Amino acid sequence: MVENVVIIGSGPAGYTAAIYAARANLKPLVFEGLQKGGIPGGQLMTTTEVENFPGFPEGITGPQLMVSMKAQAERWGAECYTEDVISVDLSQRPFTITSTDREVQAHTIIIATGATARRLGLPSEGHFWSNGISACAICDGATPLFKDENLAVIGGGDSAAEEAVYLTKYGSHVNLLVRGEQMRASKAMQDRVLNNPKITVHYNTEAVDAFGSGGKMEGLKIRNRQTGEETDLGVRGLFYAIGHHPNTELFQGQLELDDLGYIKVTPGTVATSVEGVFAAGDVQDHEYRQAITAAGTGCMAALLAERWLSERNLIHEFKQTPSSERYEAKKENEVIADTAETFDINKTRHYGGYALRKLFHDGDRLLVVKYVSPTCGPCKTLKPILDKVVDEYEGKIYFIEIDIEDDPEIAKMGQVTGTPTVQIFQDKELVKELRGVKQKSEFRAAIDSYLTAKVG
Ligand SMILES: Cc1cc2nc3c(=O)[nH]c(=O)nc-3n(C[C@H](O)[C@H](O)[C@H](O)COP(=O)(O)OP(=O)(O)OC[C@H]3O[C@@H](n4cnc5c(N)ncnc54)[C@H](O)[C@@H]3O)c2cc1C
Repeated sequence: MVENVVIIGSGPAGYTAAIYAARANLKPLVFEGLQKGGIPGGQLMTTTEVENFPGFPEGITGPQLMVSMKAQAERWGAECYTEDVISVDLSQRPFTITSTDREVQAHTIIIATGATARRLGLPSEGHFWSNGISACAICDGATPLFKDENLAVIGGGDSAAEEAVYLTKYGSHVNLLVRGEQMRASKAMQDRVLNNPKITVHYNTEAVDAFGSGGKMEGLKIRNRQTGEETDLGVRGLFYAIGHHPNTELFQGQLELDDLGYIKVTPGTVATSVEGVFAAGDVQDHEYRQAITAAGTGCMAALLAERWLSERNLIHEFKQTPSSERYEAKKENEVIADTAETFDINKTRHYGGYALRKLFHDGDRLLVVKYVSPTCGPCKTLKPILDKVVDEYEGKIYFIEIDIEDDPEIAKMGQVTGTPTVQIFQDKELVKELRGVKQKSEFRAAIDSYLTAKVG
């Protein structure tokens, strides 16, 4: 079967395109992505409050906004796959789109692959990555590694300013390293930074390298760009906030891109150089880069795709009635930690430090521990993925969820350096650690290998 429209990407552009296309009875197929070029839900999954998206006078968190957009798209029949697209063929019609798990054909494609955080490429970056250096303060800031420590953020824009302010919740002090003589952040964000006594801004400053011992980051060598003087800054954590590059590798040689790699669109529209292929959001916009502009262009792309199909008589219509059941099912249940009264060793799923201690000592099954933090978007992405896997092992494993803000001591003992992290324990020994969002198959493989070993 040839799809009416395939949408690649699940940020505000992708989900808005999906809402419009689904409401037009096109039953869009959405590749949400997994690890390539961001995470399902896109960049807003890595932020806290979004104060400027219309309709939320009190603000809304980025992850909440994206979970709601997805629910709205699915309610009207969008079909979402949490998979990365690994290739597209735009040379023949219908177009072919290949993901990690399937190959589909489509008459039209909406590209909404957004942009990815840049890394600085410090010589020791690989050594301290996820163990001192991070590109997501919102995801990793709450980990015990950074608690009450001196920290640094690199960047001078809105993201850097926001991350510096956010990290003052956890670190003892935050150093904002700005390459130029001033910040590029909006005036409002600059004021928040400059009025915060826990933040020091170092202008004309760049990082040369990170240093430390025993795998632990202890500081940064920094250089004053005016005098050339190099000094050591004692910090336990370094967070990059130095911008993004467009996720257009898949389309190189097939679509016209500009000098910076962004997809070129006909001015005032979202039409690309190939008929029937549309581009929405940050992947074609290096000027505005906002959730609302991404959503706006997502809407334009869906309307243009529908028009294009209709003009060629290619629409295969799927009549949809909105499913509120589907939406209800997506609402997250409130999690209540196990206590001495509620703990039941026969259950597969458990929450909190009490359960972990009990199961660590008294449990006889493989222990799968998931560490999350409340503001971490990738944790929300991982939830349905891992939930499905845990369902498959009902009665065979113990699954415990630890909120590292509620149980910082447990996170410290587990040497957790970022969220989400999944650790597998067998006979009280840590046998496997998986950091970040992974595919179901990776979790299954890890659990199977130790379950089999146990049986054998
Ligand atoms: C820290 C931070 C705070 C921000 N705060 C705000 C704010 O307050 N207000 C505001 O308006 N904007 C804010 N922004 C900007 C906003 O997040 C972006 O403009 C917006 O998310 C762009 O949406 P998008 O849909 O174009 O792409 P993205 O959000 O970048 O999403 C891209 C999607 O494409 C997917 N993808 C990439 N490659 C592939 C592939 N090969 N296969 C399948 N899928 C793929 C990714 O998984 C992701 O789902 C913020 C950004 C950051 C980083």
